[in-house]
Amino acid sequence: MKIIRTPNEWQRERQRMGSATVGLVPTMGALHAGHLSLIRKCRSENSITVASIFVNPTQFNNKQDLSAYPRTFEDDCRLLEQEGTDILFSPDYTDMYPDDFRYQIRETELSTRLCGATRPGHFDGVLTVVMKLLTIIGPTRAYFGEKDYQQFLLIKGMAEAFFLPTQIMDCPLVREASGLALSSRNRLLSEADRRKAPKFYQALSSGKPLDEIQQLLESDGFTVDYVEEYDGRVFGAVFLEEVRLIDNVKR
Ligand code: AMP
Repeated sequence: MKIIRTPNEWQRERQRMGSATVGLVPTMGALHAGHLSLIRKCRSENSITVASIFVNPTQFNNKQDLSAYPRTFEDDCRLLEQEGTDILFSPDYTDMYPDDFRYQIRETELSTRLCGATRPGHFDGVLTVVMKLLTIIGPTRAYFGEKDYQQFLLIKGMAEAFFLPTQIMDCPLVREASGLALSSRNRLLSEADRRKAPKFYQALSSGKPLDEIQQLLESDGFTVDYVEEYDGRVFGAVFLEEVRLIDNVKR
């Protein structure tokens, strides 16, 4: 696996690829089986698979969350290599933001709801960094997980709104046997919270009315950010101590 650090380096590499199909899997690292399922799907549909690792500071509305975000670069490289990833693009902040975030992409409706309601600016950061990655890499297809379903919908909408040539692909949410959605943030949970966390999925998928789901979660010791229905799915975000978990299930 070749590691590329700058957009210029990528351009030189890209010229050698001719008309090969390129698939992109954007990530923030701390990789787990959920990320690897995206890599596998990407490999099966493209001749070249590019993963990116960039912990994007502009999408963190909380400094503490950014500094606590797990960083496991060496392990990530090993996992990506095992999965047959061809290229890892891992730029630093100044390469991605020569403008220091003066230019931004903003959606004005869905981005203010669900996770957007309590994380102001979060989706501006997400959409801006994804726009940059799609513009730099110029992939045929880009892969996003249904774990972040609101993010997927916003990115798909952005690609349509700006006539981007990349196909935006969604990938099923990967869970552990307990039902807990795999997430880089699960590593930040204490042992006791780790045992409690599967109850989040169990409550969301219980089929109960939303207010009952919220009460159930609160009685299990979760601090509930929101539980809401949208687009035929129940979405939720909860805190266990400082750690924020999200999930969604089809209703
Ligand atoms: P992140 O590194 O958390 O930004 O995630 C990178 C990509 O992996 C996003 O498209 C996520 O939706 C996706 N992803 C993260 N966790 C999972 C999971 N458990 N199942 C499927 N996709 C996931």
